[in-house]
Amino acid sequence: MKHIIISDIHSNLQAFEAVVRSFPESDNKNIICAGDIVGYGADPNVCIDMMISLGARCVLGNHDAASINKTDITYFNEWAKEAVYWTREHLDRSGYGYLETLPYVLEDGSFTMVHGTLHCPEEFMYMDCGARAMHTFEILSTKVCFVGHSHVPGSFILRRGSVYYRSYSERIVLEKDARYIINVGSVGQPRDDDPRACYCIYDSDKDVVEFRRIEYDVETARRRILDEGLPRYLGDRLLNGR
Ligand code: ZN
Repeated sequence: MKHIIISDIHSNLQAFEAVVRSFPESDNKNIICAGDIVGYGADPNVCIDMMISLGARCVLGNHDAASINKTDITYFNEWAKEAVYWTREHLDRSGYGYLETLPYVLEDGSFTMVHGTLHCPEEFMYMDCGARAMHTFEILSTKVCFVGHSHVPGSFILRRGSVYYRSYSERIVLEKDARYIINVGSVGQPRDDDPRACYCIYDSDKDVVEFRRIEYDVETARRRILDEGLPRYLGDRLLNGR
């Protein structure tokens, strides 16, 4: 079965629409999101509505949690904080209610989904070193764990008791005796110097993960951010994928 794995949409409607248009044709799509539907961008409610109409499932990201006062934002940088205050003000009732229903962790047969790390998902730590990857591997009960949060696609591999990091490659063929933590990158605010939206497709029958990079109307997404009075930096960074 093919699973469509997305993450970190961040209220970027233009990126989200382009990504959805690129989904492979299929009547029953299994779409799962590793969190952060909102925050940073200018269209939180429409993005949540799209997520619902796609029938996608989603875990709670730190920006989702911040927008419904479910996490501490003292460690957020000034732009992120401003975006949280803006999102709290603009989130409609149904969007707020939807975010309240999101779990920290989802499991679906051969894979698990969490925004940050599996060992303390409510703390939203970055999966950014072998030690943290090992903590997650220790309690991971599936072959693969998909994560988001850093907006940088890449993977940790557990092979014969050791953890290896592999930077972004378009295609990952899963080895039989290894396990994986895969960062799926970001739909709405890529930070790996490639401004195109990023997501992946996991074929659990063939054990292959394929990344896709999708061009979208970055200028309109940037313009929406400026028009809404959100920090200019949040619009400008989309141009460079930073
Ligand atoms: Zn994010």
